[in-house]
Amino acid sequence: MSSAEVVLGFLEDAEPWRLRSPQFPSKVGGKPAWLSQRGLPSLSGLECDICRLPLAFLLQVYAPISGQDRSFHRTLFLFCCKTPECYTRNDSRCMKVFKSQLPRKNEFYPYDPPPEDEPPRDLEKDHSVLPVYGVKLCWVCGCPGNKACSRCHAVTYCGKHHQTLHWKHAHKKECCSPEATLVTASPCIFPESELVTEPEEEEEEKEAEGEEQTANAQSEDCPSLEETLAETDLEEMAMHETEDNKVFQRFKKKIAPEPHQVLRYSRGGSPLWVSSTHIPSDQDIPACICGAKRTYEFQVMPQLLNSLCVDSTGASIDWGTLAVYTCSISCNHDDEYCPEFVWKQDFSSDQQTQIKQS
Ligand SMILES: [Zn+2]
Ligand SMILES: [Zn+2]
Ligand SMILES: [Zn+2]
Ligand SMILES: [Zn+2]
Repeated sequence: MSSAEVVLGFLEDAEPWRLRSPQFPSKVGGKPAWLSQRGLPSLSGLECDICRLPLAFLLQVYAPISGQDRSFHRTLFLFCCKTPECYTRNDSRCMKVFKSQLPRKNEFYPYDPPPEDEPPRDLEKDHSVLPVYGVKLCWVCGCPGNKACSRCHAVTYCGKHHQTLHWKHAHKKECCSPEATLVTASPCIFPESELVTEPEEEEEEKEAEGEEQTANAQSEDCPSLEETLAETDLEEMAMHETEDNKVFQRFKKKIAPEPHQVLRYSRGGSPLWVSSTHIPSDQDIPACICGAKRTYEFQVMPQLLNSLCVDSTGASIDWGTLAVYTCSISCNHDDEYCPEFVWKQDFSSDQQTQIKQS
């Protein structure tokens, strides 16, 4: 376990203007507040690798790297599929993450930080086009999309899927009608909230580690478990469950002081796993296209699912935790949005019941 500081993320309501690009927000849901207006992810890059439908924007984390001018502004964007069937155990192909960064002096934003308490004047401006290069965005999901509605030409889409969805949901009534156009909320984005951060208290960690040592000592008093380990598959499974439970208990203990945390950020630190199975080895984390190693940066907690209004009874989008790994030198790749790496770890089935009850 690294001693790197952990910063926790919590959801908070915010006025919409605070969640727009010029404010460099960290946020969950809504449409992406793109950082760079150039080199946005391609349409195929924003597709689910399993069902091929457009991914939904899940969250973005503003995470500049101090002392590195190319990363003066830096945001990580996480997308996920909304098809419940794509969420099979420990399979990360229904998720994608991208990094965008800009130096302090850039063509999109002022050199000095935006005023804290003053909404910009152009609040009611059309947000379906990024102003500098005129990149058109899909009205439904906010991702690049330049296919216009052939009747009104007032809205554009990333593809047939979102056009059809919008037509059935609202646009059939709005199309070509001069008044009250385009006011209906988008049907397939997650509810929007600001992501505010605060450092995790250090004392809790020492206490938790102390208790973990006690737990270890107790299991050492019981040598029979170890002696019988290799005897049968059944016993091996039982042993594995014990190990799994230990990791899960540690997870629960660690989050108990701040149960509403939805994100844990610790660049270069290590994630808090929910289970002892499906933990990536170094070989499981692919290097960046620049050749540099990818290191852990943040994880999304299962608590976030509660705020996404996803169905929790039947098949649903789901995870234990999502660990995001990024280029260790935070390279620039032709000024394009760089794909980074996300690892989905699920709870074992008995843990699932426990965490949902708590
Ligand atoms: Zn999918
Ligand atoms: Zn779209
Ligand atoms: Zn139309
Ligand atoms: Zn790189």
